[in-house]
Amino acid sequence: MSRALGPRCKLCRREKTKLFLKGTRCESPKCAIEKGRPPPGEHGRGRVRESEYLLQLREKQKAKRFYGILEKQFRGYYAEAARSKGVTGEELMRICESRLDNVVHRAGLAMNRSMARQFVSHGHFEVNGKKVNIPSFRVKPGDLVSVRNRSKSIGRIIENVAYAEGRPIPDWLGSNLREMTVEVRALPERDQMDVPVQEQLIVEYYSK
Ligand code: SF4
Repeated sequence: MSRALGPRCKLCRREKTKLFLKGTRCESPKCAIEKGRPPPGEHGRGRVRESEYLLQLREKQKAKRFYGILEKQFRGYYAEAARSKGVTGEELMRICESRLDNVVHRAGLAMNRSMARQFVSHGHFEVNGKKVNIPSFRVKPGDLVSVRNRSKSIGRIIENVAYAEGRPIPDWLGSNLREMTVEVRALPERDQMDVPVQEQLIVEYYSK
């Protein structure tokens, strides 16, 4: 499993928006975006001419970083979304949302997507009673995602679940934090996906 490594706050600074890549820090005054830190690099503070291409590129990078997906896989998702009957940009976002690591995070079972990815790849989760250790596994409506019985007492998992208590959980997921389970009620509509991305710009980027 490959994944993007490196300082996560730097990615938010590059995209000039909060991508919520950490956990409690993202909601604290220590967040680099809250502190108004400029984009990284020599020209971070300078004015960059924002061409149409640059806007499209940044939007694509932002979405990839938000979900923690690398280029090859993201491009594959775009191709799949473009083949579907729905609106391409919306389908692309729906594909990203249906990844198991995203569902685990959205349901409150991991404080960020990289933690969710780690939990899944270490074999702590099952879908419909079967162990799944592939973070990019795609859930379907009706699926039941749960922490495996033998993993429920692991301190790290308990800590992450405690972090989610009282936090909003999207209504397309039915989360039971006490049981450490989440039911996928439906795949989300665009207005149910809280993603700081204008997906139309991504479609324009790839359709050139
Ligand atoms: Fe860092 Fe989280 Fe703030 Fe992003 S949102 S800059 S990851 S603290």
